[in-house]
Amino acid sequence: MAESGITTILLVEDEPFLRKGIRLNLEAEGYRVIDYEKADDVLERQSSFAEISLGIFDIMLPGQLNGLELCRQIRSRSDFPVIFLTARAGLDDKLEAFQAGADDYLTKPFELEELLVRVQARLRNRTTSPVSETIGDFKLDMESGVATSSSGDVVRFNDREQRILALLVLNRGRPVHRSDILDHAWSSAESPTNRTVDNYIVKFRKIFEEDPAHPRWFITRHGQGYELARP
Ligand code: CA
Repeated sequence: MAESGITTILLVEDEPFLRKGIRLNLEAEGYRVIDYEKADDVLERQSSFAEISLGIFDIMLPGQLNGLELCRQIRSRSDFPVIFLTARAGLDDKLEAFQAGADDYLTKPFELEELLVRVQARLRNRTTSPVSETIGDFKLDMESGVATSSSGDVVRFNDREQRILALLVLNRGRPVHRSDILDHAWSSAESPTNRTVDNYIVKFRKIFEEDPAHPRWFITRHGQGYELARP
């Protein structure tokens, strides 16, 4: 994400040599890579997709789910672009991939160079962060971190508050888990608690909510985290 300067890519590929090759190449380009061998593992271990900017999924995978089924399952929760990798190159397979929500398709064997170019193209198409975001009576400028109300109240948010707000805005309409907020807004050297996140949300409610005790915008989703409600 632009805010932290790190773009996270979710890679699912069962061939160890290829998985490692792709991961190292992406990391060399400055991307953060979370990689899995199986689609099943992704759904089991990945508590949220809030920070994923792009997926690279092999289609034929061991386990219960193949790459297409994984994409279908994730699509109900997140809409990051997905590039499929596969040895299957028939027209039916391509159509099936696009129906499952694919954004691009690469047939094995391929040059890693080509994959990198496609990754960059997909990420360029996706200028995720809006310039400004309306929350209740306020317009929040994402660049400066300044919110202005229709009556002229001005609130300036600090860096950490801006990072939390940016993550919630990027995932607007979906809950973001507290652990993702912690990962995104605090360094690993710091040791904040879930309670720390709660305190920031309390502050946002005081500013943005008409009635902070009954929030309309900064919603608690029990067991799932916090959600910035859609307008
Ligand atoms: Ca495979």
